[in-house]
Amino acid sequence: MNIHEYQGKEILRKKGVSVPNGKVAFTVDEAVEAAKELGTDVVVVKAQIHAGGRGKAGGVKVAKSLDEVRTYAEELLGKTLVTHQTGPEGKEVKRLLIEEGCDIKQEYYVGLVLDRAISRVVLMASSEGGTEIEEVAEKTPEKIFKEEIDPLVGLTPFQARRIAFKLGIPNELVNKAVKFMIGLYEVFVEKDCSIAEINPLVVTGDGNVMALDAKLNFDSNALYRHPDIVELRDFDEEDPKEIEASKYDLSYVSLDGNIGCMVNGAGLAMSTMDIIKYYGGEPANFLDVGGGATTEKVTEAFKIILSDENVKGIFVNIFGGIMKCDVIATGVVEAAKQVGLSVPLVVRLEGTNVELGKRILEESGINVVSAESMADGAQKIVELVK
Ligand code: ADP
Ligand code: MG
Repeated sequence: MNIHEYQGKEILRKKGVSVPNGKVAFTVDEAVEAAKELGTDVVVVKAQIHAGGRGKAGGVKVAKSLDEVRTYAEELLGKTLVTHQTGPEGKEVKRLLIEEGCDIKQEYYVGLVLDRAISRVVLMASSEGGTEIEEVAEKTPEKIFKEEIDPLVGLTPFQARRIAFKLGIPNELVNKAVKFMIGLYEVFVEKDCSIAEINPLVVTGDGNVMALDAKLNFDSNALYRHPDIVELRDFDEEDPKEIEASKYDLSYVSLDGNIGCMVNGAGLAMSTMDIIKYYGGEPANFLDVGGGATTEKVTEAFKIILSDENVKGIFVNIFGGIMKCDVIATGVVEAAKQVGLSVPLVVRLEGTNVELGKRILEESGINVVSAESMADGAQKIVELVK
């Protein structure tokens, strides 16, 4: 799960990790009021969306007066910001962070990620902060420094110091930088983050080390033990189809293609997407209805697929182990009746109660093309959406 920059900074602040003062604003008046409260000469107006690259896209504005704050807030609120991370459709700005302007001496990058290959959290840092770290990683990987963290010991001061020296943090600020990195690591572990990325971490004119940006992602599987984080979820930032799917406990991920897939089991779902691509099609989604789905769940899943206007055809690929084929068939028929089926539907059923499932589909009167195998089904649906 993803949260906004201002929320991430709030979490960091509470743990003693240094961030600038700032306040969230939902309206222009709130923005001006927040700037007044901050009382600094320079105030930064920052668009809050779940995507980076805002600076380059005009989503971060430096204001030198309350009038300028008003102008920028008016400009940004309601604007659709297109950054290299939003995709071409962009994201509408509904919240702003009004933050004190910072006298930046130097920008750095500091990030914590989980390296699955070594099963450890890794601290990554670079003196090339502010720019896209992906570009640095690609073109000048020697400029990224890493420390693998032993989970039993945590990030040790000597590791953090080693990074600080490599970054070239001024000597008198090394201790502050070490405190910052250790604090960040503590937040990462305590809150079950999957990513904690500070880009840029800055050294300021008045001798501070602080986070000017904060990107915190959380492991969804651990959210049950962090009700405070769950509260920060912003549904405006998420795909409505994915929100709907999560209500029914369906594993659904929206994709760019036009073939909707309904499958049981994550492995089968992955291979269904592969085989669609193999035959020249593009899946519109990943959807695993799970092993023990009810008719209601299947109906909702099918409705979610149908609500996607990019979907030009649907491939239902079920292997009935625990899942019974008649349950799937009933769900498909129910959903088709409720919302109407306007696109071709290919169904491949195999396993428990397969005959009953096929009969339910046949007798329903809905237009179903049945497939004998996965490959057969994939070829048929790819052909039908052409
Ligand atoms: P993004 O990563 O989405 O572009 P950032 O929060 O990193 O957004 O901001 C982009 C740039 O704007 C930063 O690299 C920094 O130079 C500048 N900036 C951001 N916040 C402040 C601030 N409070 N004071 C001064 N400059 C800032
Ligand atoms: Mg940034």
